[in-house]
Amino acid sequence: MLQLSEIFLSIQGESTWAGLPCVFVRLAGCNLRCNYCDSTYSYQPSMELSLQEIIAEIDRFSPVSLVEITGGEPLLQDEVYPLLSALLQKGYTLLLETNGSILMKNVPKEVHKIMDIKCPGSGMEGNFDPGNISCITPEYDEIKFVLSDRDDYLWAQRQIEKYHLENHKILFSCVFDRLHPAQLAEWMITDRKPIRLQLQMHKYIWDPTARGV
Ligand code: SF4
Repeated sequence: MLQLSEIFLSIQGESTWAGLPCVFVRLAGCNLRCNYCDSTYSYQPSMELSLQEIIAEIDRFSPVSLVEITGGEPLLQDEVYPLLSALLQKGYTLLLETNGSILMKNVPKEVHKIMDIKCPGSGMEGNFDPGNISCITPEYDEIKFVLSDRDDYLWAQRQIEKYHLENHKILFSCVFDRLHPAQLAEWMITDRKPIRLQLQMHKYIWDPTARGV
């Protein structure tokens, strides 16, 4: 059984998959407490479902074939691994959103991992497991930095150098009410690095505090 917060169909708002219809499976529980967390409701489970029940819920949204497993932190529950394998076997394209603190060595390569490296502005700097660098590939996976300010922006660039991430898909995102995207865009245009600016699209389409979107 898995502890969940919610399952819903929406538009993918982040990553290079942004804009596509996507089924979100939000697992409950998180080992971090980012000071800007917009899904604190996921810390406690609101339901418990078997793998078969979760898959049946996802199938209900057919023909949508893109599924994101998110949280909370989805890798806290061991049963997530059979869920990933079962969904891959059914032919779903799978995204896994993870906070970077838990080693991903058992996540199948075919799962597109979107891994956070938590910046100082989150209050959770230092939780990144560097072993995760060897678990990601430039072809499949993406690395996300959520930035609060200029200090985070410069810190993120230093991590890219430190871990030799230049060939990876890198996403720079703004904490919604802290850093204006125009400011981040200005810095990125000045620096001319091959990094993608990411907006949390769902926060512009719907109320930024809305759940289940
Ligand atoms: S890792 Fe994600 S879910 Fe956990 S506290 Fe940080 S923002 Fe919230």
